This record gives sequence, structure tokens and C-alpha cells, in this order.
Amino acid sequence: MNIVLFGSPGAGKGTQADKLAQEFNLYKISTGDLLRIEIKKGTSIGNKIEAIINKGQLVSDNTINSLIENIISNKSFFNRIVFDGYPRNLHQAKNLDDILEKYKQKISLVLNLQVSEENIIKRILGRRICSKCGLIFNDFFNPASKDSHNCGTSFLEKRPDDNEKIIKSRYRTYTEQTLPILNYYRKQNLLTEIDGNKQIDEIYKEIRQFIAPLETWLYKMYLYK
Ligand code: ADP
Repeated sequence: MNIVLFGSPGAGKGTQADKLAQEFNLYKISTGDLLRIEIKKGTSIGNKIEAIINKGQLVSDNTINSLIENIISNKSFFNRIVFDGYPRNLHQAKNLDDILEKYKQKISLVLNLQVSEENIIKRILGRRICSKCGLIFNDFFNPASKDSHNCGTSFLEKRPDDNEKIIKSRYRTYTEQTLPILNYYRKQNLLTEIDGNKQIDEIYKEIRQFIAPLETWLYKMYLYK
């Protein structure tokens, strides 16, 4: 199964994608993470990407689409991808359909994490990411503790684009360019709405209810093939 996690910046897509990847043995593609890896390399493309991200705008479709095709074409991830932060505009959504078709796959489900603007701001301003293990924490809702994280506090970092000024333009980009995708998936009957305002584990419980039956069904198909 291939799942698309949809939602505004800070909606909690990455957190839920990590949980899904772990339980259902899926591979998480976060275009944001892939872009940040590119930035860390310090190449000229990386520098250009950084400038765009810091304006709260979208990186070019060509850059994103080639990153995505590299992963979808990889046989080890065949039909077990969870997309986090992609697609982000209609052009990318159509491109994703084309690439999946080329590699004989489909989207199984699109989950829309709906979160109020107030919660989004808190989630973004409180977000901390461990540069060692990649886990995401939040000072308000999910602080790193000895039980939940063993890399120690020195690796916990704030993302440079997680500040109040950039959030505003990221949110505008989301409403203008990303939100229209919802209708595209609604028309294909792929869309499921999730209340993303609750606590992490409660949201995951709701999401799980939609994924677990798919998993069983796919497993049976495999057994009786
Ligand atoms: P968030 O969802 O919280 O905004 P991400 O890590 O997903 O965080 O994305 C950070 C930034 O990376 C975005 O604001 C955007 O500039 C860029 N980005 C991520 N994914 C895409 C994409 N699919 N297309 C274009 N730009 C992207």
C-alpha cells in the first residue's frame, strides 16, 4: 500500500508517518527531509533550495519530481511508501500518478490531517528535531524525555524555517497551492478526513483504523494469489 499524508505545515504528518512506517514496515518519503539533506551538502543547488525554503515558498517541481522518481523506482520500496509533504501542488499530484503508473503502483489512501491554526502555530514553534536519530519532538506536546529518546538533549535542533515570520508565508503557500489538491483526491474517492487536533497517540489510533484493514486485505491477496 502507498499512503499520502496530507495537511498544513506543522499538522503532524512527519510524526504520524514515522509511526505508520514503523508499524506497517513502510518507507517514509519526506520531501522536506530530502531537501534538508541537499542543503546540508552545501552544494549550489542546496544553497538555492535553502533560499526558497526560507521564503516559505515551494521548491521547483522538477527538483522534487526527480527526487521522488529516484525512490519510487527503487524496487525495495515497491508498494510500501508513506508520502509526507508530497504532493504539494496539483502539478506534483498529477506527476505522482504518472510515476506510480510507470512503476505499476497506485495510491491506496490519502489521509487529511485537519488541525486548527492555533495548534499549528504551537506545533511549529515548539518543534525540535534530533539531528542524530531524526525523531521529532515538541516542547509543548511531546517533549523529549529519557524514556522516549536516548540520544540526549544536545542533538535537539530547531528548524530554521520554524519561526513566526516564515510560518505565515508557508501557510499562505499551503492555502493557495496545496489545498486545491484535496478536491483532486476527493473526486477519486481516495480521501479520508482525520481530526489532527488530538494527542499524537489518539490521532494514530484513528489513522490505524483505516490502515489495518487495508493491510489485512493486501496480505490475503498475497496469500491466495
Ligand atoms: P512543513 O510541512 O512543516 O512545511 P516540510 O519539512 O515538509 O515542513 O517542508 C519544508 C519546506 O520544504 C517547505 O516549506 C517547502 O519550501 C519545501 N518543500 C517540502 N516539500 C516540498 C514539495 N513537495 N514541493 C516543493 N517544496 C517542498
